[in-house]
Amino acid sequence: MQYYSTNKQAPITTLEEAVVKGLAADKGLFMPLAIRPLPQEFYDSIDTLSFQEIAFRVADAFFGEDVPADTLRKIVDDTLSFDVPLVQVTEQIYSLELFHGPTLAFKDVGGRFMARLLGYFIRKEGKRQVNVLVATSGDTGSAVANGFLGVEGIHVYVLYPKGKVSEIQEKQFTTLGRNITALEVDGTFDDCQALVKSAFMDRELNERLSLTSANSINVARFLPQAFYYFHAYAQLKRMGRTDNVVVCVPSGNFGNITAGLFGKRMGLPVQRFIAANNRNDIFYQYLQTGVYTPRPSTATIANAMDVGDPSNFTRVLDLYGGSHAAISADISGATYTDEQIAETLRHTWQQHRYLLDPHGACSFRALTEGLRPGETGVFLETAHPAKFKDTVEQIIDAPVEVPAKLRAFMQGEKQSVPMSTDFADFKAYLLAR
Ligand SMILES: *Cc1c(COP(=O)(O)O)cnc(C)c1O
Repeated sequence: MQYYSTNKQAPITTLEEAVVKGLAADKGLFMPLAIRPLPQEFYDSIDTLSFQEIAFRVADAFFGEDVPADTLRKIVDDTLSFDVPLVQVTEQIYSLELFHGPTLAFKDVGGRFMARLLGYFIRKEGKRQVNVLVATSGDTGSAVANGFLGVEGIHVYVLYPKGKVSEIQEKQFTTLGRNITALEVDGTFDDCQALVKSAFMDRELNERLSLTSANSINVARFLPQAFYYFHAYAQLKRMGRTDNVVVCVPSGNFGNITAGLFGKRMGLPVQRFIAANNRNDIFYQYLQTGVYTPRPSTATIANAMDVGDPSNFTRVLDLYGGSHAAISADISGATYTDEQIAETLRHTWQQHRYLLDPHGACSFRALTEGLRPGETGVFLETAHPAKFKDTVEQIIDAPVEVPAKLRAFMQGEKQSVPMSTDFADFKAYLLAR
């Protein structure tokens, strides 16, 4: 499969180059040239297939021409070594629990898949070591670091702002060792991102080290997220609940929901989508006005959605030929304050004994307010509530149990390299390695 850039000023390229480069030369995002619908026979029998088998069929449509079937199957199987159950919360609403992976958040799926696909390309080409740079405000760093842990030929540098990520998040990428190095930057998340951007633009660094990024703009991270939308549908089908399915996604950079929109293009029978925002409601405002106006992000309790200029918005536009009417026909929006998020989390715990995390709370609320009679709602529960322990405990006024996986990270010893915000220091450090 070939890939084009959303800016249409860069040449069409291969999957391998799209994965290794991340961003196109014209700064656009890569899109597959074709989105192939899956055959009716697949949808008719989807309820008899395992998650791995469903995911393989979806992966095959995008990567099958470039990766041998047995390799692709192994990549899919290794990625999905955990369950993604669909849990009923109310009569009309189901939670797709994406938090049963190693770092207890949905980004595990893309992080693990990308690590394995990149590892395959490096082995195939006999390439020297590739260095992945990733700036994180918390969750991305842990998913990418854990996904790439132990993958041969790849070293990962996680840049994070000192004192600005929670202890749980920090432990998830500073305790791993091996091919993962955490750089503790004496600055903000924006400083970390600026260092990474400068590194990608530095000719000498790129000539000496093969650099690549692992954020959600990478096709190998964002496309695999389509897998679980199909798996949710299969589970609904087993329960006879496939009429008028509405899927709601708590959205920040819009990679997750875009993967779902790709699924719909492949024939997945989802009636419509809802994008739930916190106060950073740039997409919601776009739906209301037809005008896209990015603005600096504001901090909220659903902090993984604190994004002021969603990077995958350009993919949504491209998918719908830039038509606001077409986008509005498939996607509606919602936006909530921290007070509303907290109120929803508390109420859902008291009323239904279901504990949401702040991100899932946005999407659950959007469904309770937006579902029409006869529809079945599925919301993506993107993180385990224990990842936001202090916030959630304060809201429900009760202790939150921490899963064993998370406790294991807490016992590890933090190892990090102090780093200034000066690019010259960062560059000298990388060159000396
Ligand atoms: C990253 C993240 C999101 C937002 O996902 P996007 O693909 O950026 O829209 C939502 N919830 C959690 C818990 C996340 O970590």
